[in-house]
Amino acid sequence: MRIVIIGAGPIGCYLGQLLKQYGFSPLILEEHPEIGIPKHCAGLVGNTFFKNSRIPLPRDLIKNKINGAIISYQNESFPLIRENAAFVIDREKLDKKLCEGLEIKKETKLLSLEKKDKNYLLYTNKGTFSCDVVIGADGATSMVRKKSGLKIKPVFYKGVQFRIKQKVTPVDMVQVHFTRPFLHFCWIIPEDEKVIRAGSISPEPLRTLESFMQKMKIKNGIIEKMGGVISIGYGETYKDGLILVGDAACQVKPLSGGGLYYGMRCAETLADCIKEEKISSYDSKWKKQIGKEIRSSLKIRNFLEKRDISFLEMLFNLAKKNHHLIEKIADFERHSFSVFSLARAIGKGIPKILFR
Ligand SMILES: Cc1cc2nc3c(=O)[nH]c(=O)nc-3n(C[C@H](O)[C@H](O)[C@H](O)COP(=O)(O)OP(=O)(O)OC[C@H]3O[C@@H](n4cnc5c(N)ncnc54)[C@H](O)[C@@H]3O)c2cc1C
Repeated sequence: MRIVIIGAGPIGCYLGQLLKQYGFSPLILEEHPEIGIPKHCAGLVGNTFFKNSRIPLPRDLIKNKINGAIISYQNESFPLIRENAAFVIDREKLDKKLCEGLEIKKETKLLSLEKKDKNYLLYTNKGTFSCDVVIGADGATSMVRKKSGLKIKPVFYKGVQFRIKQKVTPVDMVQVHFTRPFLHFCWIIPEDEKVIRAGSISPEPLRTLESFMQKMKIKNGIIEKMGGVISIGYGETYKDGLILVGDAACQVKPLSGGGLYYGMRCAETLADCIKEEKISSYDSKWKKQIGKEIRSSLKIRNFLEKRDISFLEMLFNLAKKNHHLIEKIADFERHSFSVFSLARAIGKGIPKILFR
């Protein structure tokens, strides 16, 4: 079976490695000349990231260990202490590690595709490729998704991040500053004692980040700038030998925009389906695992995005009052589960939508 994966991002390469382990020889087409560049990730992953990976990943990808978060809104903050909650990783190094030993054609951009008889014809700037199975791991703005006719329509969010030479204390806590509920926030992630990653997701992330930096009195020291798109949604991911995985499939946490964990789990499901010659069951199988979590988080996000700023204030104060409960209940990979558990535990004063 000739399998072509579009996109040598972390999910396309992780899938490529799993398929290789199962005896397949997938070809990966990547539009850029270097794997891992350009970057578009804050590199924050949960503490099960390494344990859950089916491909052994070296611990030297870890730049920092995170023991909690400082949550802020306007001029108020509260800490959430969660020992060993997360890692800050070197995303470029991760991508480079995952691509080792795979057959990748770089600087090869998919322009269009069509199904002809039993094959897919892939039209690129480097000629036409033919395959039985085409997998779109080509990120948030996926060309495979656009050309597929699959019923999946993401909502897009924009994010930017600067790496900055700047001391921060404590060095083991991330800072999250909300401007509006959920996918409108700024962050500071300490990379080590001397470097921070400061970023923003919002309708105008650059402007939001610049004014956030002003507020935090961060003036100089920018080492690196990057930006990207996040695709949030839920829909079809399989049709007649054409498959979507990772950001292309919106396998992304709707309340934070993190995509590595879900994308990797779904790549595992896809690799298993291909191995067992049950490709058509991929869509239902990954949805059985994380579909409910994504749909519930989407509902929460849609609900919160319609609220005004006074609602966010109420929510912030409620969270502040119950921060010990959040420390116990919060689950890095299952946000809606955390929100619903919290709502049930707090009870009074919580809107009905937050009860399942
Ligand atoms: C600002 C920001 C911060 C983030 N922070 C985090 C975080 O802290 N933790 C986390 O888990 N997630 C984070 N994410 C999300 C995370 O970056 C993505 O979920 C992850 O990169 C998805 O991997 P992917 O392989 O599906 O897609 P991508 O990483 O986008 O890879 C897609 C690949 O396909 C290639 N490609 C695209 N189109 C074509 C084409 N037509 N032809 C050939 N190749 C093509 C691209 O060049 C790229 O190499 C963040 C995202 C943004 C924007």
